[in-house]
Amino acid sequence: MKALDSFEVWFLTGSQGLYGEDVLRQVADNSAAIAAGLDAAEDVPVRLVAKPVASSPEAIEDVCRQASSDGKCVGVIAWMHTFSPAKMWISGLTALDKPLLHLHTQFNRDLPWAEIDMDFMNLNQAAHGDREFGFVLSRLRVPRKIVVGHWQDPSVAARVGAWARAACGRHESRNLKLARFGSNMRRVAVTDGDRLEAQVRLGVAVDGFGVADLEKAMADVDNRAIHQLIVEYHDLYEMAPELARGGARHESLVEAARIEAGLRAFLEAGGFRAFTDTFEDLAGLPQLPGIAVQRLMADGYGFGAEGDWKTAALVRVMKVMGAGRSGGASFMEDYTYHFGEGGPKVLGAHMLEVCPSIAGGKPSCEIHPLSIGGKPDPVRLVFTARTGPAVVAGLMDLGNRFRLVANQVELVEPDEPLPNLPVARAVWKSLPDFETAAASWLLAGGSHHTCLSLDVDLEVIADFADMSGVELAAIGPGTSFAAFSRELRWNQAYHHLIATP
Ligand code: MN
Repeated sequence: MKALDSFEVWFLTGSQGLYGEDVLRQVADNSAAIAAGLDAAEDVPVRLVAKPVASSPEAIEDVCRQASSDGKCVGVIAWMHTFSPAKMWISGLTALDKPLLHLHTQFNRDLPWAEIDMDFMNLNQAAHGDREFGFVLSRLRVPRKIVVGHWQDPSVAARVGAWARAACGRHESRNLKLARFGSNMRRVAVTDGDRLEAQVRLGVAVDGFGVADLEKAMADVDNRAIHQLIVEYHDLYEMAPELARGGARHESLVEAARIEAGLRAFLEAGGFRAFTDTFEDLAGLPQLPGIAVQRLMADGYGFGAEGDWKTAALVRVMKVMGAGRSGGASFMEDYTYHFGEGGPKVLGAHMLEVCPSIAGGKPSCEIHPLSIGGKPDPVRLVFTARTGPAVVAGLMDLGNRFRLVANQVELVEPDEPLPNLPVARAVWKSLPDFETAAASWLLAGGSHHTCLSLDVDLEVIADFADMSGVELAAIGPGTSFAAFSRELRWNQAYHHLIATP
């Protein structure tokens, strides 16, 4: 089964009536074969659905309107098998409200040098049909991804798949409801921002609640649900003896389970798929939610600490975009550095809230002091992240726009065991190198809170930024600081120019 099986991408093939019924039948057959081929590709995570060949302005507008209103359709792929006079596409493209991918391909891979005649030439015209289509897209300023290559080439399916993942992320952000318990950590700048603009631009609805609302949901939790969670905790994690049944601090585990059950019930009842809290506003909560947040993230919820709703939304979107892959994604914070031998390296962690989907081994369930905020000790899962390529991404509000900063990193093993560190952590090397990555991140105003994902790469993030109208500052293997700083300057001018009242 496909990882994002409930979503569809529609495949539109352009042609025109000029060539006669036989040619249009052939176009339809070839189009269906390409859609089926891409649908079968492992890298394409959604269902790819071929639509009837579009050969009139009315048919084109009709299918574009259907795509825009269809709840399952996350995006549209268009390809011109033959020439398709592009004025026919104006009304449809103007009505289209879903991400667009322009696939520049051709049914036949090889040119039949010895047999080629004018019939063949009339049928296989993507080389100029797609140029006519590309012109009208540029004339209408329609944002789109362009993928070029033969449709059976695996790299074409991979690029289509990356875009389809981003389109699912876009669909998620446009429908995302986020619950915010308490407000922003006092005096912190980067976690704050314009929630109204976020809803206009990204679609994310951020609803505020008091911690009392959560406490009420916790009071409604019945003891059997708590007992079930305690059993699950013992099954899934190395349980610290003091927390285990009969242990001196078992009651703290029971309290943590009550928080999880209450929080989960609250989010489910409201249709929320992301949330925030803050250690500065815990009201009557017995402890800062630790294991509860960690396990909810592992079940796909987005989370941001200290009221950080932008990162919470980003974590949720990145989890959707990485669906079906096994690397995991988590809320993360650049915490401290190793500049010594084998470095520089970043140690990422948080007070508690790192998602066990990125764990490299079986997490242990422990209790330790919070060491900030003067609250009772919270229960948390402790582990080290698995290794491999990953990205960290942060979302900032620059006042006149949102900026997404993303950095490709390589997760590595810690140089030594970390026996005294009571929180989950990840260690990574930044690309292209630590100095370039950190300087670029700082110049871009990149946040200290991020989403770390082993399941999406910079291409998926770039596609998501494009289709969301969000600036992307990407830092990867090819980044030079000089070029990056020039790009930020150009972006500044560009976003100033395109700003709408
Ligand atoms: Mn933090």
